[in-house]
This record gives sequence, C-alpha cells and structure tokens, in this order.
Amino acid sequence: MATLDILHFPDPRLRNKAKPVTQVDDRVRRLIDDMFETMYQAPGIGLAAIQVNTSLRVVTIDISEEKDQPLALVNPEILERDGVEEMSEGCLSVPGIYEKVKRADHIRFRALDRNGEPFEQEAEGLLAVCVQHEIDHLDGKLFVDHLSSLKRQRIRKKLEKEARQAAPAPAGTVI
Ligand code: ZN
Repeated sequence: MATLDILHFPDPRLRNKAKPVTQVDDRVRRLIDDMFETMYQAPGIGLAAIQVNTSLRVVTIDISEEKDQPLALVNPEILERDGVEEMSEGCLSVPGIYEKVKRADHIRFRALDRNGEPFEQEAEGLLAVCVQHEIDHLDGKLFVDHLSSLKRQRIRKKLEKEARQAAPAPAGTVI
C-alpha cells in the first residue's frame, strides 16, 4: 500500500468528471487500498479518487471512531434523497476550512463493493452527508460550491496564499 498525494482547491483537476469503473479488478482494489491508507493517515472520513488525481468513480469512507468500518464504493449512485440536514463540513482538498452545507439527511444509494458485487444501502446523518460529499467530488464538485461565490473566493485566496507561503523561497543571488 502507498499513500497518495491529495490535490488541493483550486486545482483544476478537482473539476474533472470521473469515469465509471468498467471492471473491479486488482488495479481498482489496489487504488481502494491506497485510498484508505491515504484517508486514514490524513486523517479524514472520506476520500474520492478524483482527489488523488485518478479519474475513476471510486470512493472510500469510514465514519467509525475506531476506523474499523471501511466502506468502499465503486460507481456509487444516489437513488433517493429525503429531508434536509445542515452540517459543518470540511474536506481534505480544502484544508483548514469548515463551513455549513445543506444536504439531504436521509439517502438510499447503490454501488459496487470491492469485489464488484452490487449492493444498496440506506444512510442518514453523517454517513448520508459523507456519501453526498464524495459523489459530488466524482462530478467535479466541491463543498465550497454550495457556498456563496464571495465566500468561495475568500477561501480560494486564503488557500492560494498558504500554498505560496509553503513553497520554497527562491534562492538568493550569490555574488
Ligand atoms: Zn472532500
């Protein structure tokens, strides 16, 4: 297993639409394993393949305290949405930013598991929010897109400034 680099907003690659997985093979299973390792180390409760620069519809989630309930979703699709929930969300691609986002608080979704077997599941609360957040990623959407454009601009400027400061300073002229 290996940890993967996570892209940060406003990287344009986060705007790609991920392609459906045609076959859940060892390559996809290795991606899932690497995504779990990356997500647990970050640490985060959800990760979409788009965030590690892989344009496939693959998501990893684990909302458990003990980090022992890994949920891998391949080609996930929401079948039903119900109710409204407003939760403070963060994202590994938008580090250090937390904002309230309104989403459905009860969903039913289907996906393939790591063996390529289809399954359906209901989710509410945090898991429902997490699945919706990750599926947004697969469609090139970020949680900041649910905020006002003014707020989004502010976040963008803040992260761009932080990225510049993190970059190594140019070497001085040696005379
Ligand atoms: Zn995210």
